[in-house]
Amino acid sequence: MDYVLSFCDHYVLDDVYSYLLPHPPIPSSLPHLYNQTLPSPYAQSTTYNPPQPSSSSSSLKTGSLLPRDNIIRQGVSMFTIALLGAYAMYFLFCSISYFFLYDRRLEHHPKFLKNQIRKEIKSSMIAAPVIDLMTLPWFLGEVRGYSKLYDNIDEHGWPYLIASLFMFLFFTDFAIYWVHRLEHHPLIYKHVHKPHHKWIVPTPYAALAFHPVDGYAQSLPYHIFPFLFPLHKFAYLGLFVFVQFWTILIHDGDMISGHLLERYINSPAHHTLHHLYFTVNYGQYFTWADSYYDSYRAPEDHLDPIHDSLKAMRKKGLIDENNNPIPQIDLEHKKKDL
Ligand SMILES: [Zn+2]
Ligand SMILES: [Zn+2]
Repeated sequence: MDYVLSFCDHYVLDDVYSYLLPHPPIPSSLPHLYNQTLPSPYAQSTTYNPPQPSSSSSSLKTGSLLPRDNIIRQGVSMFTIALLGAYAMYFLFCSISYFFLYDRRLEHHPKFLKNQIRKEIKSSMIAAPVIDLMTLPWFLGEVRGYSKLYDNIDEHGWPYLIASLFMFLFFTDFAIYWVHRLEHHPLIYKHVHKPHHKWIVPTPYAALAFHPVDGYAQSLPYHIFPFLFPLHKFAYLGLFVFVQFWTILIHDGDMISGHLLERYINSPAHHTLHHLYFTVNYGQYFTWADSYYDSYRAPEDHLDPIHDSLKAMRKKGLIDENNNPIPQIDLEHKKKDL
């Protein structure tokens, strides 16, 4: 995250903070201070530029009262960057999944709520800033150097870097399995996890539609991992994006079943069954924890919610017996002619 923060500071935030909270100009009676740098790991943001002989004092660039390593500035910056990043990834990945993968006939399922997509988006928009705020101590710990994130691949070598990707996936998968399973305990479920199960036939937009405590609890393993195990900073950023992408993908609702990896990978088909049947397939990436702890349910064709959707569509006269769409414009014309 410090790469992202440093990038945003360099291109945007230094100017924003200098504009909003400018450092007072240096009195011209103190020429010996010019070119001195404040003690800071991000010194370039707080360097005093000497006035040019022809320039007026108003053109002095003095930086901001809040240097880059100020904890309040880092907190405000990280909160803003994480929130805008989460919204951008949410709309980008959800829209790709919805328009290119999602079977929109599922919207005719009897358990698909009225205005469901709007409700899913609203719930996600409300949860994201609260989750972001709760996550801020972890982000600050990372950018202030308390985690085991590292820059140089040579520090641990390529074999460890590749192994760490799998360690991250297995660690977070196992931890999320248990967080998720505990959230289904009757004492916790109705207070924390029930809002996410409002979507019995979810669309990709349900991916962040959580109670904020639920969203935070399920994201905790991602933040704990780099404080326990060394992880390359770019690998962490890549995994961060991948996690968002995967969470959205498994909410696609499409029961694509029968593929080779079905027994090992927790696909949209498995998570669709979780939303339909509640106490099966708690996993995130893999099915091994569900298999080991007896909560696995294999995606079988007769469980596919598309069958009930097609039945409802037939009833409404939208498709024929062979599931071919019945043109609705003609029906409108016929009604008018009558
Ligand atoms: Zn879900
Ligand atoms: Zn659940």
